[in-house]
Amino acid sequence: MTRTVTAVTALRAALATRKSGSIGMVPTMGALHDGHLALVKEARKDADTVVVSIFVNPTQFAPTEDFGAYPRNLEQDLAKLAGQADIVFTPSAKEMYPEGFATAVTVGGPALGLESDFRPHFFGGVATVVAKLLIAASPNLAVFGEKDYQQLLVVRQLVRDLALPVEIIAAPTLREADGLALSSRNAYLSPDERRIAGKLNMILKNAIGAARTSGDLRAAEGAAIEALWEAGFSHVDYVAIRDAATLDHITALERPARILAAAKIGKTRLIDNMAL
Ligand code: AMP
Repeated sequence: MTRTVTAVTALRAALATRKSGSIGMVPTMGALHDGHLALVKEARKDADTVVVSIFVNPTQFAPTEDFGAYPRNLEQDLAKLAGQADIVFTPSAKEMYPEGFATAVTVGGPALGLESDFRPHFFGGVATVVAKLLIAASPNLAVFGEKDYQQLLVVRQLVRDLALPVEIIAAPTLREADGLALSSRNAYLSPDERRIAGKLNMILKNAIGAARTSGDLRAAEGAAIEALWEAGFSHVDYVAIRDAATLDHITALERPARILAAAKIGKTRLIDNMAL
C-alpha cells in the first residue's frame, strides 16, 4: 500500500513504524514520466522502503520562469506510484518554507558556471530543498537522474560537504525513440517544436564524434551551437565539453568528459548531456 503524507513530522512517523531495512528516496517535482519511474525502480533494487517526494520547489525558479505554469498532475502521479513507492511525500510550500524561513544552502564547485550562468538562483534552491528532503527522510540512498548532470554533481558535493549519511545513486537518462530526453517540460512543446527538440541529442552525438576525431573541443562546441540554431532552436545558452567529475574546463580529452547543453525552443528551455 502506498501512503501519502504531507508533513515532515508525518513522514518521520511513517518511516519510524517500519520494522527494519533501508530507505531509498527519489526527489521529484512531479508530472511523473517513465524517467522518474525508472529512478523509483532503481531505488527499489537496493532499498526496502521507497519514499518519493513530489514538490515543485519555488526557490529554484526565478520570477521570470515557469513556476506557475509547471505541470502539476498529483492525481495521475499518485496513480503511477501506486505499488511502486511505499510513501509519497507531497509537502506544501508552507510546510517546506514555513513563515520566517531564513536558511539557504550554497554550493560552489560544480554548481559554478553552465546552468548557474543562466539560472543564478537555481542551485541554491535545489541544494536547500534537497538538504531539507534528505534530512526529513534520512534515507540510506537517494537516486538522481543523469538527465540533470550538473545537479547530480551538486547533490554529491552537498552530501559530501555536509557529511549526510546517504549514498547518491545516478540513474541513466531515459529517452524517446528520437533521442529526446524525457522531461516534464516536454509537455510545453507544440508538434513543430517537438520535432526540433528531437534534434538536440543527435547534435550532441555529432559533437562528440567531432571532438574525438579532431581533438579540437572548442570547434566541436561551436559547430554544435551552429547546428542547434540551424535546426530551429530559438536560443542556445551553452554547449560545453567539460571534465565529467568536476565540470572544470578542459582543452583535451585526457580524462572522462561530458558534453552538456541548454537551448530554448520558443519559451521552452531544454537541457541534455552525454558522456564522451
Ligand atoms: P524533476 O522532477 O524534473 O526535478 O526530476 C526529478 C528527478 O528525475 C531528477 O533526479 C532528474 O534528474 C530525474 N529525471 C528527469 N528526467 C529524467 C530522464 N529522462 N531520465 C532519467 N532521470 C530523469
